[in-house]
Amino acid sequence: MRLRFEGSFTQQEAIPEDAIAAAVAVLRSGRLHRYNTAAGEVSEVARLELEFRDYVGARYCLAVTSGGYALTTALRAAGLRAGEPVLTNGFTLSPVPGAIVGAGGRPVLVETTEDLVIDLRDLESRIAVSGARFLMLSHMRGQMVDMQALMALCSANGVAVIEDCAHTMGASWAGVPSGRHGLAGCYSTQTYKHVNSGEGGLIVSDDPELMARATILSGSYMLYGRHPAGPEAAHYERIRLQTPNCSGRLDNLRAAILRPQLARLPDNCQRWNDRYRAVAAELMGVPGLRLPERPKEGQFVASSLQFRLPDFGAAAIQHFIGLCLARGVELKWFGATEPVAYTSNHHSWRYFDGQALPQTDRVLATLCDLRLPLTLSLEDCRTIGTIIRESVLETTSAVLDGGVAVAPALPEIS
Ligand SMILES: *Cc1c(COP(=O)(O)O)cnc(C)c1O
Repeated sequence: MRLRFEGSFTQQEAIPEDAIAAAVAVLRSGRLHRYNTAAGEVSEVARLELEFRDYVGARYCLAVTSGGYALTTALRAAGLRAGEPVLTNGFTLSPVPGAIVGAGGRPVLVETTEDLVIDLRDLESRIAVSGARFLMLSHMRGQMVDMQALMALCSANGVAVIEDCAHTMGASWAGVPSGRHGLAGCYSTQTYKHVNSGEGGLIVSDDPELMARATILSGSYMLYGRHPAGPEAAHYERIRLQTPNCSGRLDNLRAAILRPQLARLPDNCQRWNDRYRAVAAELMGVPGLRLPERPKEGQFVASSLQFRLPDFGAAAIQHFIGLCLARGVELKWFGATEPVAYTSNHHSWRYFDGQALPQTDRVLATLCDLRLPLTLSLEDCRTIGTIIRESVLETTSAVLDGGVAVAPALPEIS
């Protein structure tokens, strides 16, 4: 009998019981706002900030409403001027260019390598052409570029790096946690990321001026003294009346849910990687299927899996995705001409000047993606891997038999 996968790629684990109990305690207190504390009480949000600061080894941490808000706020707090260029990955999720535009910047997209990371040669030339002072580096899908090489290039050119760690909370490069390489690191606590409060975000940095501005931007009013994970009061003096309140605080309910999850994060990172290895083991040696290279300096957290089928044309990819879908494995394809669910690519971001990214287009044209939620068992992962492998082999046969066209997969550049 042919294997079929019956599970879900979007079902996360339940919120742990101790997190539910902490949430109920906040609800019973009625003090959901981060600054609504009883005498001597340190709010759940402030505790979360202290714990996350220590977890990544940063000087400061600020909790906010979403990952996208964290990115926008970090850019504004770093001093982005209206209309200024901001470099970012040509392959990322739409909230990243959205955050740049939201902060008043102009995205300058950088090419993607076959291993799905930012292309350092292209980055170098786009730094020169754009004169950008900022790079919003997206560790898209948990893939990490050689961070030492990237930081050397950016430092030499006076480019400040803000890391988008929506997919790398818990990951590190050469022992340095993701989000700790550049000026600031931004994380998301949205349901599909590595901790789950529905929505939420975190910013970390060692820069007291940036964090003072970020805190005021986030809507601290003049209560910034209630941020034990923030900079000392003196850093607010100069900026406190010059910085707008762009309300985007986190609340105690969501912080209460997150704190017990943060304690479990290291274990869960292992569990994601176990699932990745179980799928990947079934894909080893499949002709024409390529998994991204994962350099040994990277400690990855594989909450999703990507692979490419570089020899397949668009018709073959669609045939292959159809075979997988018929057996319960729903793959995302970043090469489709129309955006579907979260898979929009740069051709759909028409609110800023389009840029030619032929290399990225070639990579995305044959790129497939699947999430690996922790509700998948290792047995599920082996089933998923087997279905993908068999579907690749069947598609290859169909192409050789002439049943599927071999037209190139590259989407038209609009
Ligand atoms: C989810 C995501 C974001 C934005 O996070 P939200 O909390 O949903 O605003 C940013 N970058 C990437 C790569 C993401 O996947």
